[in-house]
Amino acid sequence: MQCLRCQGLLSAVQMRDLGQPPVLGWRCLLCGAMTDPGIEANKASHNLPAQSRARLPGALPARLKKTVCGKQ
Ligand SMILES: [Zn+2]
Repeated sequence: MQCLRCQGLLSAVQMRDLGQPPVLGWRCLLCGAMTDPGIEANKASHNLPAQSRARLPGALPARLKKTVCGKQ
């Protein structure tokens, strides 16, 4: 298995958290990134595409749009 950050080799590790049962996860031997099925599930549920805030060429700045186009 390869690390998603650096393509390094992943090693199986047992991850522990206080008061929680141990979980089998993966640790990258090159960059040290750690992951487990819970972390991957959280990433998948929060990876929404970022909305670009870039202004399109020719578009009015937001402060002028309000005065020119009126309030919508
Ligand atoms: Zn890595």
